[in-house]
Amino acid sequence: MDENYRPYIIDFESAEQHDCQKSMDIVFNTEEPKWEEFNCDELYEACIEAQAWRPRTVDYLRREIPLKVAVSAKELVKHAPKGYSYEAAWAAALRVVKELQEWFDERAFFDGRSPTDPLPYYGRD
Ligand SMILES: [Zn+2]
Repeated sequence: MDENYRPYIIDFESAEQHDCQKSMDIVFNTEEPKWEEFNCDELYEACIEAQAWRPRTVDYLRREIPLKVAVSAKELVKHAPKGYSYEAAWAAALRVVKELQEWFDERAFFDGRSPTDPLPYYGRD
């Protein structure tokens, strides 16, 4: 990100040519595709780093749970794997939902700021 919160990709001096097999356009603020659907590891990683997409799943007690289940700890705890005590599952659910909320809050903050930020001024007189 630059000082105006615009994402850009750097370090092309260490880049290598590759025959890109990317199979879809990158559409910001849509659900994260599965990497095997997207089909380019490099751009996929860059998009994850830049938070281009909404997360598709959350990691809850080493399980991938769809985002729509993680709307509340009360819903999420129903998907706890067997072998966890209710207390441990509940604590983990609270933590996952809190982290997800923070992720969305941060996104809202940056998304809300970037359109009103001034464009960089290049010293024209
Ligand atoms: Zn590629």
